[in-house]
Amino acid sequence: MDTIIDLSPSELKIEDIFIQLRNNAKNIKDTNAKERIQKLEKIEQYILKYREDIQKAVYNDFRKSPTEADTTEILSTLGLLRHAKRNLRKWMKPRKVGSPLNMLGTSSYILPEPKGVCLIIAPWNYPFYLAITPLVYAIAAGNTVMIKPSEISNHTATFIQTMMDDLFPSDEVKVVQGGVDVSTALLKLKFNHIFFTGSPQVGKIVMRAAVEHLTSVTLELGGKSPAVICEDADLKDTTDKMTWGKFINAGQTCIAPDYVLIPKSRKEEFIEQMSNTINEFYSPNGEVVSVSEDFCRIINHNHFNRLKSIIEDAADKGATIIMNGEMDENTKFIPPTIVTNVSNDMKIMQEEIFGPILPVMEYEQLEDAFNIIEEKEKPLALYIFGKNKKLIRKVLNNTTAGGTCINETILHINNPELPFGGVNNSGIGKSHGKFGFDGFSNQRAVLKNRIGMTTIKTIYPPYGNLAKKLTDLMIKYF
Ligand code: NAD
Repeated sequence: MDTIIDLSPSELKIEDIFIQLRNNAKNIKDTNAKERIQKLEKIEQYILKYREDIQKAVYNDFRKSPTEADTTEILSTLGLLRHAKRNLRKWMKPRKVGSPLNMLGTSSYILPEPKGVCLIIAPWNYPFYLAITPLVYAIAAGNTVMIKPSEISNHTATFIQTMMDDLFPSDEVKVVQGGVDVSTALLKLKFNHIFFTGSPQVGKIVMRAAVEHLTSVTLELGGKSPAVICEDADLKDTTDKMTWGKFINAGQTCIAPDYVLIPKSRKEEFIEQMSNTINEFYSPNGEVVSVSEDFCRIINHNHFNRLKSIIEDAADKGATIIMNGEMDENTKFIPPTIVTNVSNDMKIMQEEIFGPILPVMEYEQLEDAFNIIEEKEKPLALYIFGKNKKLIRKVLNNTTAGGTCINETILHINNPELPFGGVNNSGIGKSHGKFGFDGFSNQRAVLKNRIGMTTIKTIYPPYGNLAKKLTDLMIKYF
């Protein structure tokens, strides 16, 4: 048994929960596809039954509209869950693989097996979706699970806790609520896998803690995701998609387009069109955006002040701020904002914005845009708008990102056949669909001797002439 030093009373309670989950992991490991699908069904039914409570919880957290809660928290979760239900039997099956000629007499397969006890640490920005979808894959893969939702979105965290208490015994899935102190205590435990969604900064803390037990990690992080607009892009279509992708959840989306790179010749047209589209979305009858029920609030005063200060920093350094309304600290409202005349020394171009502010940078040559992207950490997402296939390929070839949409924003997250995740600073490991299942599974390599004798026996000691000849042959041909 692993010993944990210097535990406070609350940590001891966490350890008790952990031990229960670990003791039960062997039983859960033995569950078959039917049993796991039944568990996913229980989650599905609960979501359908309590749809309005989920809407209310996220509304209370940051005034997210019920329709947006439906699309981005409920529908997106159900989409991945139902896909997992449909495919789980296939994912769980041992996968036969071929054998090279020098392995004659053997057969091999990959056996996915549960990792054991898994920890899910979730952020606040899609507080339901980002806690429940990793859970779907952890359960599908046959693990026991501890979930720590974000303390910042506490209404949703409390809903999730009740949901798990209603659905699962405490030695199978357990929610632990709390902030940094609770996370820190959890990270001392010897989990078999940690699935963390949050900032790169905290991702590093999680990875450092995981090193202590050599626990595997999936890190779903963030960063600055650029949108590269090519010379020939249809700007009406582009701004529709940019407005949706940027301002949904009030920009508090890990894969929101963080900044725009646009040819100098099309910048003014883009800004005008973008302002029109913002009005069409959030002030269809000429009213101010702040009365729109469709536009979220900033999650808390810390983030409100952080966003206000990056706008002020940009303005101080010479940027032009085009703000569609006025900021209101009391209601934590920041209107959709476009920032032009931006330069790399502004905070707005240095940190992930994570709010409804869109800096627009112009470029003369596509290569200049590539340089701007290259100077920053590898992004979680990169968007390309344009018609010319060669140009689109050029952007793809000269950049990297966790995921990319061409003439779209953020939609790649919704296709469960695509891996979801970042690269280096924006994430390690992938989720969604089979990738999500694999992340919570150990891909066990199994080799079986089929006929009692393998060619390899000929090279056992004592090494004679035959062994030498065979080795020579293998070195030459295999
Ligand atoms: P965060 O990193 O501050 O917090 C995430 C979780 O970590 C929370 O549960 C929090 O309690 C915990 N935590 C915070 N500080 C900790 C510490 N010192 N030690 C241990 N645990 C700690 O992130 P956030 O503010 O909740 O979310 C915003 C960030 O998450 C953004 O960077 C965004 O891009 C990223 N994000 C990424 C994805 C993705 O899928 N890649 C999705 C959503 C958000």
